[in-house]
Amino acid sequence: MLNIILMGPPGAGKGTHASWMANDYSIPHISTGDMFREAMKSGSELGNKIKDIVNRGDLVSDELTCALVRERLSQPDCANGYLLDGFPRTLAQAEAFATMGEEIGRAPNLVLNIACPDELLINRIITRRVCPKCGAGYNIINLKPKKEGICDNCGTELIQRKDDNEETFKLRLANYYKSTAPLLDFYKEKGILHEFDSSGGLEHTKKTIKEFLGGLQ
Ligand code: ADP
Ligand code: ZN
Repeated sequence: MLNIILMGPPGAGKGTHASWMANDYSIPHISTGDMFREAMKSGSELGNKIKDIVNRGDLVSDELTCALVRERLSQPDCANGYLLDGFPRTLAQAEAFATMGEEIGRAPNLVLNIACPDELLINRIITRRVCPKCGAGYNIINLKPKKEGICDNCGTELIQRKDDNEETFKLRLANYYKSTAPLLDFYKEKGILHEFDSSGGLEHTKKTIKEFLGGLQ
């Protein structure tokens, strides 16, 4: 069973790889970033609470985030595997998840880290475009939609995320090194961490991950 946590700095390509993996292995792609953006768009109580935090590139509280993930992972579609993208992001979340995952029968068994040198990240972030409707990700340099500015899946006009600018990116990257990178050791000690270098581009990284996952079965 593939109970996967996908890790990596902002801009490494987590979302892009998550979407083909979820498709190939028929497991739900659970992105806390997407769930938070969804809540903000719907104007729910949660959405209003987190709006300013997310837009300035800061982290939502561990408590709110863990509650959201617990609720989502408890759904029946996660019983045969899942792909978590963007969670856990702090040591406190990882520790809470170690207990909560067992409690709900959804303990992770594989952590895939998509590594990428800093100097490549900022360019990937600035050239990234997303579909506000279905969440599909694009890049104006290396992952263009068929028709410029339009989502291949649903025909919606693509946008640039509010937090995809240089200034906000710096805060997100700093948060990543401070709060998230330490999780790599946490999972290394558990013996479930696997690292992939994504500086060779999307196709190359995809091939490497595919070979690795294929070898497991
Ligand atoms: P990124 O491209 O930076 O990986 P995401 O789409 O994963 O972006 O997340 C966007 C924003 O949502 C984060 O900057 C943060 O504000 C919030 N967020 C997502 N996941 C978490 C989490 N596990 N803990 C706290 N905040 C989160
Ligand atoms: Zn779309």
